[in-house]
Amino acid sequence: MINLSDYLELNTRTIELTAIVQTALCVGAGGSSGSLADKAIARTAGGKLLIPASQVKGRVRHECEKIARGIGWPVCDSPKADTMCPQRAEFPQEEESRFHREDYRVGADAETDRHHCLICQIFGNTVLRSRVIFDDLICAEEPENLPEVLRPGVTINRDLRVAEDQKLFLLETSPPNLKLRFTGQMIFRSNCPKYAELLILAALRHINAFGGSKSSGLGWLKWELETSEIDNNLWKQLTANK
Ligand SMILES: [Zn+2]
Repeated sequence: MINLSDYLELNTRTIELTAIVQTALCVGAGGSSGSLADKAIARTAGGKLLIPASQVKGRVRHECEKIARGIGWPVCDSPKADTMCPQRAEFPQEEESRFHREDYRVGADAETDRHHCLICQIFGNTVLRSRVIFDDLICAEEPENLPEVLRPGVTINRDLRVAEDQKLFLLETSPPNLKLRFTGQMIFRSNCPKYAELLILAALRHINAFGGSKSSGLGWLKWELETSEIDNNLWKQLTANK
C-alpha cells in the first residue's frame, strides 16, 4: 500500500498502471468472508474488486529476474532470504564473484555495504527497502449489482492425473468478458536504479494473466501503460553493461 510519505518524497516518478481483464479473474484473498466460494476474490474494504499489490509486485519481480538473467546480469535466488542478497548462501565461488561489481555496491553501513544484485536494488530484500512501490490495482468502474460468479473447479491428483470428484471446489471470479479495468500506480523512488523503469516495462509485457488458474482461462489481461515505449538507448546500455 502506498503511504503518504512516499508521495511526499522528492523526485519520485509515478506511472499509472491499467490492466484490462479480458476473462474472468480469480485472485485469492486467502479465505472467504461470507461468500459461498472457497476462494473469494480480493476486494477493498469498500467492496471493490482488486488485484493485490503484493501479487503485482511478485509477478513483476519474477519477470524482471528472468529478463536480467537472460541478458547476463547476475541475479540472486528469491524469495528465500538466505539465498538472496546480501547473504547469497550456497552460491558457488565463481558464481558469487560475478556479483562483485561496482554497480552492485550499495550504501555505507555494514549491512548495505555489500553487493546487491540489480533486482534487489529495485525490489528490495531483508536489508534494502524496495525502491519501487506498487499499489493495489482496483476496479473502479464495476457495474452495479454485479453477480457473484461461482466457477466450479476440480482438484487433479498429480500422480494419477485424474480428477478427484470428492474435491470439487468453487472459485469466486469476476464475471467473464466484461473487460474490467483495474488501475493503480507504481512509484519509483529517487534512488531507484536507472534501469528499473525499463526493466519493469519489459517485464509487464510478459505478464498476460493473474491468478492461480491460468490454464483454465481465468484472469487473462492486457496492459495499458502511459509509457509503453522502450528507450532503445537505455536498453542498449543495459544489455552492454552486464
Ligand atoms: Zn539480489
